[in-house]
Amino acid sequence: MKKKITILPGDGIGKEVTESGKKVLEQIADCFGHDFIFDEALIGHEAIEATGNPLPDETLTKLKNCDAILFGAVGHPKYDNDPSAKIRPEQGLLKMRKELGLYANLRPIKLFDELLEASSIKPEILKGADILFFRELTGDVYFGERGRKDNNDTAYDTMIYSRYEVERIAHKAFKAAQTRSKKLTSVDKANVLESSRLWREVVQEVAKQYPDVKVEHMFVDAAAMKLIQNPKSFDVVVTGNLFGDILTDEASQIAGSMGMLASASVGDTVGLYEPIHGSAHDITGKGIANPLASILSAALLLDISFGLKEEADTVIKAVEQTLKEGYRTRDIADAKTPHEKVLGTEVMGNVVC
Ligand code: ATP
Ligand code: MG
Repeated sequence: MKKKITILPGDGIGKEVTESGKKVLEQIADCFGHDFIFDEALIGHEAIEATGNPLPDETLTKLKNCDAILFGAVGHPKYDNDPSAKIRPEQGLLKMRKELGLYANLRPIKLFDELLEASSIKPEILKGADILFFRELTGDVYFGERGRKDNNDTAYDTMIYSRYEVERIAHKAFKAAQTRSKKLTSVDKANVLESSRLWREVVQEVAKQYPDVKVEHMFVDAAAMKLIQNPKSFDVVVTGNLFGDILTDEASQIAGSMGMLASASVGDTVGLYEPIHGSAHDITGKGIANPLASILSAALLLDISFGLKEEADTVIKAVEQTLKEGYRTRDIADAKTPHEKVLGTEVMGNVVC
């Protein structure tokens, strides 16, 4: 299979972990006889430094003309204390999602058995948990009208969803549920919010086209509780942008570390694959970041964008095997891990390869 993959390392540990993700894709191409052509482009703080623009036109053109994107992270601490900065790294990410029409963010939450003991949650609650989140990405309070009134003493953000936006993500979630255990949980706050009542109405409507899938509607507060109490009771979950943001970070603790979780952003064109963690400048340049989230993002890319299931499974098995042999990065090591098995980013990536 011949495919063009654009690598967007971005900022901070994004650069370090994406190298491992790319190496794994190269290894898969070698082993399975595929022809993957790699290209690289600028985004985020790095792009601002080089061109003054967090998403240069040249980058956008490359992204629109490739078959899949492996992305690292954007962000730089210098903007944290300067909320007034007009040009910011995150704008590159938001613009990219919008320009590429990436409306669904998929996050598989799965704890590898080898990491059960290292988790702060009881193993019997966690063992076997395997959840696939669909977070809507283009609506909600992130894109509604916002502002100040009453002499600046009142502020508001509007939570807004259109029928069309809910429909298209609901279809994606139902289709995924059909390939798994045929159970879908839709999370909203329909007892209070009008946008949630529309959300629920549309999901119920779409459900009629998937009679084989069992649908359950849950309020977000109950879902937040149940996620910790009984994560195994979830399979596919679909929710809006804000609730999805919060619930998926909560759920990341089920998988042991931010450094373990991959995500896919898809729409109707090219797919974007990235770790759920950010640029993590506290550990940037130290060579200790966990590359597994980027490597697992590469597996999602193979599966979703290219339909290469066996290749994707091979990557996941390699990660499993690496953990089974006792290799850890610092974030997932525990007191019992022998010193010599705690590896840096690059070596960990090489072991998986
Ligand atoms: P951003 O502002 O870009 O979101 P951040 O500084 O908030 O970045 P995150 O990446 O969101 O950092 O992660 C929070 C913390 O989790 C980091 O500060 C880091 O210590 C830890 N962390 C995140 N990703 C990894 C990883 N891949 N390996 C090891 N530790 C990680
Ligand atoms: Mg963060």
